Amino acid sequence: MIDSGEFSDSIESFRHPDFAYLFDVDGTLTEPEAKQVELPEIFDELARRLERRQPIGLNTGRSSEFIVEKILKPLEAHLTDATLLQRVFATGELGAVQITYGPQEERIEELDQTFRVPETIQSEVRALAEHSPYREVMFYDETKQTMASVELLPKEQLRGRTLDDFRAAQQTLIEDMRKILVAHDTEGKLNITSTRIATDIHHALAGKALGARKFLTFLEQKNIHPRRFLAFGDSQSDYEMYRGLRDAGARAHLVFVGDRELLREDLREEVIFSRERVDKGTLEFLVEQKL
Ligand SMILES: [Mg+2]
Repeated sequence: MIDSGEFSDSIESFRHPDFAYLFDVDGTLTEPEAKQVELPEIFDELARRLERRQPIGLNTGRSSEFIVEKILKPLEAHLTDATLLQRVFATGELGAVQITYGPQEERIEELDQTFRVPETIQSEVRALAEHSPYREVMFYDETKQTMASVELLPKEQLRGRTLDDFRAAQQTLIEDMRKILVAHDTEGKLNITSTRIATDIHHALAGKALGARKFLTFLEQKNIHPRRFLAFGDSQSDYEMYRGLRDAGARAHLVFVGDRELLREDLREEVIFSRERVDKGTLEFLVEQKL
């Protein structure tokens, strides 16, 4: 008989892991200013969970290139067993691109054309970003495939300009972007979203909830049925990924690592707040969590 207790336990944790994790990237896994993971222990914690067959998802507005370079490659290097990557899922550009691993643990990238911002709008935004006062504090993100994104310049290129200069320019950029959308009669079909580091035009149906649904579809296809989900984020928009999980019937919790005030007051009650902030808050929770 192979039906020993241990064997059925492992099948059980394989199909029904206790937890699945879905992480925002900027300011949740990465340090917001350095824009990369500064706490390598975060990768140790992710690897530990994968070893317990607990799936890991990433859900961000970032490009697939950013996700691969900043998160997936270092994570791959942290794993002694590459087959664990079968339980890793990433979605970028607010659900429009996704990365999973194939039978040989090769990365497979898929782009959902439905969510592509028309080329003409992308080039108008690119041209806009080349003018003052934008070019002094921002740049057009060429790695995005479906969105038109203008991002805060790296610190060393700001030449004495401050985050306040960026925020002021961001306000007029939003106005200019709105004019472009009106001129192309795309209002309602495309949205403008601003974060502390970027201003994006994206498809109205793209967003963190879409990314969350794609994670659920991935798990379904793998026949993995986690008992509970933990979503991690540092912005109001991350509430949507948690809602996306809940609305699909998943038992989910949101661990909020941003400043309390960044989350709408009426939503705060159902959320777990970390003591530390951003990446440190995520690590704190992962270290203290009873797996
Ligand atoms: Mg974030």
